[in-house]
Amino acid sequence: MRTSVVLFTSDLRLHDHPPLRAALGGSERTVPLFVRDRAVDRAGFAVPNRLAFLADCLRDLDAGLRERGGRLVVRAGDLVDRVCEVVAEADADEVHMASDVSAHAQRREERLRRALEAAGVRLHVHDTVTGAVAPGTVTPAGSDHFAVFTPYFRRWSDVSLRDALAAPRTVRVPDGVGSEPLPSRYGVPGLSAGLATGGEQEGRKRLGAWLRGPVAVYEERHDDLAGDATSRLSPHLHFGTLSPVELVHRARRAGGPGPEAFVRQLAWRDFHRQVLAARPDAGTADYRTRHDRWRSEREAREDIAAWKEGRTGYPVIDAAMRQLRHEGWMHNRGRLLTASFLVKTLYVDWRVGARHFLDLLVDGDVANNQLNWQWVAGTGTDTRPNRVLNPITQARRFDPDGGYVRRWVPELEGVQGRAVHEPWRLPADERAALDYPDPVIDLSAGLARFRQARGR
Ligand SMILES: Cc1cc2nc3c(=O)[nH]c(=O)nc-3n(C[C@H](O)[C@H](O)[C@H](O)COP(=O)(O)OP(=O)(O)OC[C@H]3O[C@@H](n4cnc5c(N)ncnc54)[C@H](O)[C@@H]3O)c2cc1C
Repeated sequence: MRTSVVLFTSDLRLHDHPPLRAALGGSERTVPLFVRDRAVDRAGFAVPNRLAFLADCLRDLDAGLRERGGRLVVRAGDLVDRVCEVVAEADADEVHMASDVSAHAQRREERLRRALEAAGVRLHVHDTVTGAVAPGTVTPAGSDHFAVFTPYFRRWSDVSLRDALAAPRTVRVPDGVGSEPLPSRYGVPGLSAGLATGGEQEGRKRLGAWLRGPVAVYEERHDDLAGDATSRLSPHLHFGTLSPVELVHRARRAGGPGPEAFVRQLAWRDFHRQVLAARPDAGTADYRTRHDRWRSEREAREDIAAWKEGRTGYPVIDAAMRQLRHEGWMHNRGRLLTASFLVKTLYVDWRVGARHFLDLLVDGDVANNQLNWQWVAGTGTDTRPNRVLNPITQARRFDPDGGYVRRWVPELEGVQGRAVHEPWRLPADERAALDYPDPVIDLSAGLARFRQARGR
């Protein structure tokens, strides 16, 4: 009787799961395995919001497998050791897993392949599980990856995607392969109070609701901070409780400007992934150096603390930073504004901001976080690396009535309309009555410092 192991990593679902389908097709018995990889934890994954969401995902995956006659096996430790251990216990012939893009994932895959080969076991690695179009599928002449999004998107759009796969009906797991207890979010201290719930069922519910309605107006409304009119599917894409291939198919079937704009954002995700796959060091090093001599963390200590705590005195920045802390998630326009404010207005190294985001974001992801930070810092793939977003004009445009600011900065709740974006302009007695800080920096001084630093 043939036995296989399916190693789940960032693909915690049963629908559209090529490794699971291949394993079930090629063997009578399959061990669905998740390893809590200690190296991933050490690299900064083990933050409360993502651990809690992960726990939800694992419980939901286990429940889905049990409905089909199976169960999830969970182990913790060195991933390669744990997989080899389970392969030996189950007397498995092959292992299936998804490819992934980070430096750690690439090294880990190679180590696993060698260890399994030594034991006479074959490792099958499946692309298009954690992304829609795998890195390297489309490349420009003379390079292994695209450095500019628009030409990438043109070629990405022409790729013929494989069909999405149904969830399996039955999963037969061999006896005698034990599991550690499943983790639970209830044991995780320090969670954001408004953290979303994880798991494939929750993700599919969200996706269905999104495609039935709000996606139709995504193109017009995605930047409306108060409207909160984006999909909020990013944590599900990060943990793989939803399949990017399935999302693209379903959005394309829905058709129209909203779904098309949504598909374009999914292409951004693949874009950053193909950059990181080709340049794994871009997770920590400048993709394109601008020879910045960032203020030291010591010199900028108070500014950094004000930024993290949402008390910079710029209401839209503070609103977004408080949303991050409260929900473990932030609106994309908020991410752009807060990142630009830290790196360009306060002239602090993008890595300081990226680290703080990774400490809190439930969708915190090496490719999308680090490369979006680099995009904003102008050290990445932005074709206008020296653009600086002005938090006041941006707030007037993307939060015209001030509803987003009033939602997250209760000190300013009583300030009506767009005046909320510039509390320092209020009549002196009204300003004095507000328990809200003055701006940490004058915007024109910040701009001048940045331009000088960049030799402009
Ligand atoms: C400084 C900064 C840091 C970021 N860090 C992360 C991160 O750690 N993880 C993450 O998933 N996204 C990150 N993003 C990208 C983007 O902000 C989020 O993906 C988006 O806000 C998630 O909300 P949503 O699911 O409602 O997005 P929607 O607008 O509904 O978009 C749908 C999906 O497209 C993808 N997407 C959208 N915009 C981008 C983008 N700019 N880059 C890559 N993928 C995109 C996401 O998977 C998203 O779920 C970051 C952006 C910035 C500017």
